[in-house]
Amino acid sequence: MNRIVIVGGGAGGAELATRLGNKLGKPGKAHITLIDANRTHLWKPRLHEVAAGALNADADELDYAIHSRDHHFHFKLGVMSDVDREKRQVVLAPYFDGGQQLLPERRLDYDYLVIAVGSQTNDFNTPGASEHCIYLDSRQSAERFHTEFLNVYLRASMHAEEDANHQTFDIAIVGAGATGVELAAEIHHMAKELVHYGFDGIRPENVNITIVEAADRVLPVLSERASAAIHRQLASLGITVLTGEMVTEVTADGLHTKSGKVIPAKLKVWSAGVKAAEFLKDLAGLETNRVNQLVVEPNMQTTRDERVFAFGDCASCLLPGKERPLAPRAQVASQQATYLAKLFVGLLNGKDMKPFEFRDKGSLVSLSTEGSVGNIMGNLSKDFTFEGKVARFLYVSLYRLHQKTLHGSFTTLLLMLRDALSTKTGSRLKLH
Ligand SMILES: Cc1cc2nc3c(=O)[nH]c(=O)nc-3n(C[C@H](O)[C@H](O)[C@H](O)COP(=O)(O)OP(=O)(O)OC[C@H]3O[C@@H](n4cnc5c(N)ncnc54)[C@H](O)[C@@H]3O)c2cc1C
Repeated sequence: MNRIVIVGGGAGGAELATRLGNKLGKPGKAHITLIDANRTHLWKPRLHEVAAGALNADADELDYAIHSRDHHFHFKLGVMSDVDREKRQVVLAPYFDGGQQLLPERRLDYDYLVIAVGSQTNDFNTPGASEHCIYLDSRQSAERFHTEFLNVYLRASMHAEEDANHQTFDIAIVGAGATGVELAAEIHHMAKELVHYGFDGIRPENVNITIVEAADRVLPVLSERASAAIHRQLASLGITVLTGEMVTEVTADGLHTKSGKVIPAKLKVWSAGVKAAEFLKDLAGLETNRVNQLVVEPNMQTTRDERVFAFGDCASCLLPGKERPLAPRAQVASQQATYLAKLFVGLLNGKDMKPFEFRDKGSLVSLSTEGSVGNIMGNLSKDFTFEGKVARFLYVSLYRLHQKTLHGSFTTLLLMLRDALSTKTGSRLKLH
């Protein structure tokens, strides 16, 4: 029986493992294994909500072991460190938990290998960035931001009540891409909510949020119209946006820009770029680009080994007739997962697949949940925007589609009901 091993169960890999488990694992046509460095999956585009405390990651995570049983694939906890292409084996590094080695180095045989290990923050080696900034690229870092954010409030609560008028809290975010913009809006919302929960040492109007962007406008990947609308909404929330400013150094006290500006900040987040993990750079002689992404053909096969595939953020896929490779987005990873599931079913039946075609459904940016603060959809080819409740609905739909692929329509409906009920009955914020 063919062994298909998928490494990385994120926005793309979790969907692929589920689809292949249902289609090939269940009828016993292939042995599907998913390897992930973590025990649970959390949809990455929700990390800014975890950081702001608007989402309790424990309540929303998917347990790989349970999911694999329900969808007829096998789950292995482990961190891929290498590939032995000659022996067709994935090498998993010794696994540590709490400083103790839990598992030794292991090797897993494959007939087809699919790498979907995602990406991480690229700070372009800016001095002080890794030391002083939080990178919003993992659940752990989002939770760290949340804790540090609340700790500032706890410290402020030590002061006398009348001092709350004078306490300020400066937060700086490097990068006005979707992550930076969405995080800024969530923090603004959080600051307004916290006073109702006894975190009243700092007044919401004294929380100063600054976004610093090197390009000349926010969300440069969107149309100018969508970008301008987002800029206006950020300004209406009192969020400062500095465009055309390149951060050259980060210190404990704040950001320094090329033009000589100093932006004071207690909390600093770097969300200005992504790159694939370093270990991919020299992985088994496979071709990579300057940000360590594995270069793949339009059918996701790596250029030097037809048995090794890669997709999502860790792959660079240039489609015929296009000038640039596909962007690192959840939408791309999800469509590639759907394509690969069909490709493997066809492959095992001796059928060829046409190259992948990407259908851009536009980009949505969530500017928190407040009625007056909407979301915007920009699409380069059509250039139209949605704001307010319609856009909010569309934004949430993206996540619901991911859940539908993982759990099916009925369970997704139940999850939607659960979320609606918990919003009505429980706290809207995570305060620990
Ligand atoms: C805060 C934030 C907001 C975003 N908002 C949006 C948005 O609104 N719309 C959008 O389209 N995109 C958004 N993105 C981008 C989107 O999250 C990514 O494009 C998408 O998650 C990529 O999917 P992936 O499957 O390639 O990787 P990921 O979802 O990152 O999954 C990678 C998986 O691989 C595992 N892994 C990593 N290394 C190893 C290893 N060595 N061995 C084993 N397992 C490993 C990880 O644990 C993880 O489960 C956002 C990203 C962030 C950080």
